[in-house]
Amino acid sequence: MKLAIFGGGQLGRMLALAALPLDVRCQFLDPATEPCAAAAGRHIRGDYQDPAALETFVRDVDSVTYEFENVPVSAVEHAARLVPSAPGATSLACAQDRAHEKQLFEDLDIAVAPWVEVDSIGALRQAAATVGLPAVLKTRRFGYDGKGQVVIRSQDELAAAWSAVGEQPCVLEAFVSFEREVSMIAVRSRGDEIRCYPLTENVHHDGILRRSTPLEGDALQATAEAALARVMRALDHVGVMAFEFFVADGRLLANEIAPRVHNSGHWTIDGAQCSQFENHVRAVLGLPLGDTTLIQPCVMVNAIGEMPRTVDLAAIPGLRIHAYGKSARPGRKVGHVTVLARTAPELRRRFAMLSPLIDA
Ligand code: AMP
Repeated sequence: MKLAIFGGGQLGRMLALAALPLDVRCQFLDPATEPCAAAAGRHIRGDYQDPAALETFVRDVDSVTYEFENVPVSAVEHAARLVPSAPGATSLACAQDRAHEKQLFEDLDIAVAPWVEVDSIGALRQAAATVGLPAVLKTRRFGYDGKGQVVIRSQDELAAAWSAVGEQPCVLEAFVSFEREVSMIAVRSRGDEIRCYPLTENVHHDGILRRSTPLEGDALQATAEAALARVMRALDHVGVMAFEFFVADGRLLANEIAPRVHNSGHWTIDGAQCSQFENHVRAVLGLPLGDTTLIQPCVMVNAIGEMPRTVDLAAIPGLRIHAYGKSARPGRKVGHVTVLARTAPELRRRFAMLSPLIDA
């Protein structure tokens, strides 16, 4: 079978690596000269909206999917008219707009931090009075890894914050003093079967994910599963979806969804029976879903900026190395590693061996 993927970043690369053993070949549409997924499949270089490139991209494929949110909705709609496509444009459109996303959570009775739409400096002043300070101003569209957002602590910072986000449509949301951040990855089949991975605890620095640890038997597992199921069904989402939450006062508060495979689910490659990547491929091609059970304790750590030397990483027992083949650049996700162990104390020992190599 053949799968066409919008985007050729590391998520596309890992989808293709998971697809190959299932006898599924992937091809990517990406405007970059040499996207990192090109090492794992066929790269079609072109703009997402270029009709000729799109035609080559979807020719003879069994399904089309996307690996990142910033693909134009119209391109996904166009592809969906030509070949089966999952997830649909509805999921993409929702995830591209923070206001739509939060409204959907509220409509589905999923708790969110207080928030207000903002489209002018005047509206921002009013919103600050409604939501209270501190608060976080986030652009409605195209924000990722902490980009397009500013924390506002006092009234004096409002004008500077409005200018810092480029004076564009935003949401202002209350700053959440969370105890922890968690996410859940789930997959939904064409036949409405939903399978969820264990809730995962995430640590961010400067808005960028550093570390993810799957939790076994967490008290919030069932609530998170129910929230994901409601959102996936409301959007008729087929494929993997990630849902990020804050935990405050022991309760889940929805932050955002990603209608795709997600960085906080990378541990599933080595730590789950069937990875999020394989399950996404299965779902979008109409194959039976795989087992989402955790195999053994593990922790995933991102390499940000540069990848440590393979020779140093390979010396750590139980460590799985995933370099994305990207050049070093500050703030860039260039790879990740997963530390695996039979027991929690062994995991702590192995994790400690990693700290001189990666800032986890
Ligand atoms: P986001 O792009 O919305 O996922 O935000 C990136 C990161 O910024 C989150 O994972 C949090 O660590 C932090 N953050 C975002 N929104 C808030 C908030 N309302 N209160 C506190 N921290 C936040």
